[in-house]
Amino acid sequence: MTKIDDLWLYDQAQQAVAKIDNRLKSTPNRARLNKLHSFLTEQQAQAATLTKNIEAKGAALTRLTALCQDLERRLELELSEFSTMEKDEECTAAEMTEARKSMEGLMDQITSARKDITDAITFLEKASADYKETYAKAGKAKKEYDAVRAACEEEKAQAAPEREQAVAAADKLKAGIDPALLKRYTAIRSNYANPIATVENNQCSGCRMSLPTSIVKKVESGTGVVECENCGRILYNKQ
Ligand SMILES: [Zn+2]
Repeated sequence: MTKIDDLWLYDQAQQAVAKIDNRLKSTPNRARLNKLHSFLTEQQAQAATLTKNIEAKGAALTRLTALCQDLERRLELELSEFSTMEKDEECTAAEMTEARKSMEGLMDQITSARKDITDAITFLEKASADYKETYAKAGKAKKEYDAVRAACEEEKAQAAPEREQAVAAADKLKAGIDPALLKRYTAIRSNYANPIATVENNQCSGCRMSLPTSIVKKVESGTGVVECENCGRILYNKQ
């Protein structure tokens, strides 16, 4: 057994652990859990947007109501002034026209403010209904999410003995690896899930690049560690 044979066996053990993890990550329950998670995130964002809109519109409604009340008070005042003017003989026609114009202007502003109030109320009713619906949908989804998550935990618990065994096997092999080689392997593994490639038809099985004959011969000799010049994976001659 060469250093590289030991590493190959260790890598195989590592791949066995990864296979269990991948299997757990791709069960129907996990797929459902991921879907529910995105859905819940979406609903949360929607609820936050609705809350923000409701608050902003609520503040606008308060301002509009105050404005409308102010306009109504002013109109009332002008109306009473106008009736006084009507009785006043010294009041000119031009002054009366001016007063009438001012009241008409106020009435237009009141009409416009009242319309804005109605629109704001309609908006708030719709937004509140949407919020309730979002809240109900999210609540239902959360219940399902909790149940599916429990099922995923159960799957994980069931696979735990098998996984622990695989990890123990890998750890045992790891102890026998040359530390410098292990360091190189770990560094390559941070880039590739399969850091060791075999030589197949003079090609690197990792990146499919053709390898120079000298490299192939070196790998076959089993002396020293050879990396693929293209992808950097450690090359192994599998017999
Ligand atoms: Zn390669």
